Amino acid sequence: MPFIDFFRSRKLKFKILLLFALILVLPLAILMAVTLERISLVARQDLNRNLGYAGSLFRNSLEDQLDSLKIRAKTVADFDFYTLAGMGFSASATVPLMQYELIRSGLDYIAIVENRSNILIEEGTTPSEALAKIIPAMCHTPLNVNLFVIADEPWIFAAAMITKLKTELPQHVLFAQRLPRDFADKLKRLTGAEYTLLYAGKRILTSQMDIYARRKTGKSPEDPDVNSGQSEILGKSHFFVRDEVLKGRISETIRLEIALPDSEYNVLGQTMRRDFIIFGLLGLVLALVTGTVLSWHIASPINLLAESTSKVAAGDLSPTADLSRSDEIGLLSRNFREMVISIRQEKDLKEQRMSELNTLFAISNAVNFFSDSEELLKFVLTHAIEVLEAERGSIMLLDDQTDELMVKVASGGRYRVFSGTPIRLGQGVCGQVALDGQGLICNEGFKDSRFRNFGSLMPVEDIKSLICSPLKFKEGTIGVINIVNKRNSTDFRESDLSLLNLIASQAAVTIENNKLYELSITDGMTRLFVHRYFQARLSEELLRARRYGLTLSLIMIDIDNFKKFNDTYGHQIGDIVIQKVAQSIKETVRTGIDIPCRYGGEEMSVILPETRPEEALQTAERLRERIAALSLAHSSGELRITVSIGVSSYPVHSHDRESLIKTADKALYVSKGAGKNRSTLACEDHQA
Ligand code: GH3
Ligand code: MG
Ligand code: MG
Repeated sequence: MPFIDFFRSRKLKFKILLLFALILVLPLAILMAVTLERISLVARQDLNRNLGYAGSLFRNSLEDQLDSLKIRAKTVADFDFYTLAGMGFSASATVPLMQYELIRSGLDYIAIVENRSNILIEEGTTPSEALAKIIPAMCHTPLNVNLFVIADEPWIFAAAMITKLKTELPQHVLFAQRLPRDFADKLKRLTGAEYTLLYAGKRILTSQMDIYARRKTGKSPEDPDVNSGQSEILGKSHFFVRDEVLKGRISETIRLEIALPDSEYNVLGQTMRRDFIIFGLLGLVLALVTGTVLSWHIASPINLLAESTSKVAAGDLSPTADLSRSDEIGLLSRNFREMVISIRQEKDLKEQRMSELNTLFAISNAVNFFSDSEELLKFVLTHAIEVLEAERGSIMLLDDQTDELMVKVASGGRYRVFSGTPIRLGQGVCGQVALDGQGLICNEGFKDSRFRNFGSLMPVEDIKSLICSPLKFKEGTIGVINIVNKRNSTDFRESDLSLLNLIASQAAVTIENNKLYELSITDGMTRLFVHRYFQARLSEELLRARRYGLTLSLIMIDIDNFKKFNDTYGHQIGDIVIQKVAQSIKETVRTGIDIPCRYGGEEMSVILPETRPEEALQTAERLRERIAALSLAHSSGELRITVSIGVSSYPVHSHDRESLIKTADKALYVSKGAGKNRSTLACEDHQA
């Protein structure tokens, strides 16, 4: 059902509207129906009562008319004509008497009739053409009164036998009186009827034709056989009834029609119906207006709040609308808004903490991912800049020997090329921090009195705010971390310094760990990776190559006739040569990709990931030539050395670590055997 569906609607404002319409309009409609029913009942009763009263009044007055004529007829018959009896009805004697009687009795006609038909003498006006029919009927009995319709006019006739005459033929005196045309009108005034008519067949006998004629000719009032009905006169509704009157005393069927104006009650009913409809419509409009105002005032803000809660429930913590009202809904909205704000703050704080924790975790873990300390420092710096929402920064490390700070990495902004100017302890903000081991905030930037421009890093006017923290490890300071310019031109806060201190202490541990790790895998003399690291990395790279279907090459280098070189120039010179060779290797291979190692003694190796045999051989040749070109000044002249190189590749020459080393070694021996100072690529024959 649409009504039920409507009421089930989730929209509060529709419910309010509907409720108001029901509350205001439904009782009014019921009240209207009941009242109108009662009024129409009273109206019907009133009408019937009035009609009955009017009818009986009419009958009574007609009876009175007839009776008065009857009485006069009797009186005249008994007395007035007595004296004439002996004289005969001579005109000279009788006419004055009859004229006198006409006037005295208010009659219209008087006649002496002999033997019921023969008019002896007559006086007054009469519709004489009908008399032939009337006289026998009237004179049938000695005293009779009746109503006849002659030429559309009702006449009351009375006849009395003149009993005292001693004549053979019966003599009658006949009286006639026209029923006054306004007879019905007088009754109308008495009964309050709209019109009162006498009918004979279709002929109207009484006056007031005008009103009757002006009625709206519905079907029923025109039809004489219809006994009652409703008609309309001049726009007003009337009820009419027709009834036969004075049955038996009237010559033909004469009917009385009475039309009463609509009962006052009926009029009242109609007025009330109209009023009810107006009030009903007004009520409906009022209900709609009230409902709309209420829904606008209550339902809409509640809807808005409901939408806001849905948004919050879906995770959207953007500020909710403030309804700025002073009532409970306003309080609800304000409380909700504050709730959302505090949830958002909590969430932001949690996210910030998470980000800080992630940064710390990433920094502490960084040692596992970066073999290169510069890369590690860059990583630490980038994270610190990000988490502190700054523009740029730098990390300076303290030189153990000189106690001076040197910029190791810088990130973001328009940095100039490092000049490498060392900063002494206590100099400027960073020197102060390194000396005191305490972090500092300089929100004045380059205008701060502690600030010193070393003219090296960046345009000084670009430094608007600065925060600096010491990198401390085991009570000692190993460097400082500088973070420059808080984003959105805001100041650094104490909380930023605390966070940077935390990052710095974690970073210091990581940097130190990295330093230790680097030491553990680096050969002290050559700065190449140690043998153990070589083995581990070779296994790792082989695994990667196998997994991804890549090639991997290995170069083995051995200095030629080195025993003799040592014997000739001494071990110390030998060591220098080894260092020079190592340096040449480092400079020849790809930094960060190839892995140069000290295999042992004066033997060195390079792991070349993703390198085909021919490419590796080219690298080996380049290296060999470079070493051959090296010269070392000595008292006995320019010292020169050469190397022999063996190259082997996965998966062409071998499939595992041992065989790869073996095949490279074999190739190296081939180089030695072939006269040294050459590079040899392992061939199928060398396969282990
Ligand atoms: P070949 O051309 O066949 O390689 O002849 P070789 O004399 O170089 O022979 P081999 O490679 O077997 O000699 C290794 C020598 O390298 C032995 C040792 O005296 C010398 N040596 C090994 N490690 C060091 C070192 O750290 N410093 C110095 N100065 N000499 C070393
Ligand atoms: Mg050797
Ligand atoms: Mg050698």
